[in-house]
Amino acid sequence: MEGSKISIAIHGGAGTIARSKMTAEKEQLYTSSLEHALNAGYDILEKGGSALDAVEQAVISLEDCDLFNAGKGCVFNSKGTHELDASIMDGSNRKAGAVAGIYCIKNPISLSRQIMEKTEHVFMMGEGAMEFADAIGIQRVDQDYFYNEDRHKQWLSIRDSEKFQLDHSKEKRKKKIVGEKEDTDKKFGTVGAVAVDKQGNLAAATSTGGMTNKKYGRVGDSPIIGAGTYAYNKTCAVSCTGNGEFFIRGVVAYDVSCLMEYQGLSLQEACDEVIFNRLKEIGGEGGLIAVDARGNVAMPFNSSGMYRGSRSSDGDVVIRIFK
Ligand code: ASP
Repeated sequence: MEGSKISIAIHGGAGTIARSKMTAEKEQLYTSSLEHALNAGYDILEKGGSALDAVEQAVISLEDCDLFNAGKGCVFNSKGTHELDASIMDGSNRKAGAVAGIYCIKNPISLSRQIMEKTEHVFMMGEGAMEFADAIGIQRVDQDYFYNEDRHKQWLSIRDSEKFQLDHSKEKRKKKIVGEKEDTDKKFGTVGAVAVDKQGNLAAATSTGGMTNKKYGRVGDSPIIGAGTYAYNKTCAVSCTGNGEFFIRGVVAYDVSCLMEYQGLSLQEACDEVIFNRLKEIGGEGGLIAVDARGNVAMPFNSSGMYRGSRSSDGDVVIRIFK
């Protein structure tokens, strides 16, 4: 398989991203951050590195950027603190690692990978995951590392309510909650990456801070294998973004793989069927990125925008926010 087409795709969240609110300066910031992450992953693939290394590095780059709701830029929960979720999957052997409800970890995606590689487990949460992180010397940061004035204001505006809100919203969204039809400015800032390497191996990774004012202990789709993340060499690698409750109920990432495996759909057909039909049917909003073993890329979303990018060895480079 050595020498096959390599591809990587990344996302920085989907949602109602209003073009009118996007200044040229802001757009440039998002674009260059996406480009930086995309190239961090692509360089690894180009040198013959593994898809797993590529998706981890791309996600680390996005976690370290405070524009996105993962790592440094993560949102505030109902207690005014941060709980981070992440997962990673290796499509060559279907090994996976995931964490939920962790805090003060600079790069949750790397902790997920360590769980996959250094334990017999797949999914660890809360204090136990933190103890494991300390035991293997994963980098901790102060709570202040995650402080961001805009996101703090977002949280203050709804902290005394039962409402929880999607990332990046501003004052206009005070009253909005997940699933409200009239909501016009929803964004999900979760990050993710999928890749296929020269050996034809696939991998997927997803990382998030969840949703503003989410209940303490709430876990979304991002760390759930099969919901927010999935990779299988025979079919595809998928990373999702959107209102997580719906992605969990739709088992979205695995559903894409199943449609390819059991119904023989192409990558694009399977992704479109899930995002535009099956997810929509239950009220889910958002999108996903996916690659298959031949290096094909699909990045469908049923919201108005999704921060996304892809690069393949046939020269294709895409970095886009809107439709
Ligand atoms: N899917 C994430 C969650 O529900 C949110 C996002 O995509 O931004 O936690």
